[in-house]
Amino acid sequence: MRLLLWGVIIFAIVMLVLHVKKAAIQRRDRGQENPQSPVEAAETMIRCAQCGMHIPASEAVLVQSDLAFCSEEHRLKHFSD
Ligand SMILES: [Zn+2]
Repeated sequence: MRLLLWGVIIFAIVMLVLHVKKAAIQRRDRGQENPQSPVEAAETMIRCAQCGMHIPASEAVLVQSDLAFCSEEHRLKHFSD
């Protein structure tokens, strides 16, 4: 009977430790996701000087700090006009 009681206590401790670990992992995962999404949402949008389309700064073809294009094609077209 005493052995069974110890078994129950140890089982309860193991379950508690697993629960705490799982909660910590979930917290950590959420912590990693959160800083990413606002950064993506806040990426600077730049207007193409040729067609006026807005494109993320990372995808834009930059000529000068104030002149950007959605594609290489539009950059060439802009200067040939
Ligand atoms: Zn364009």
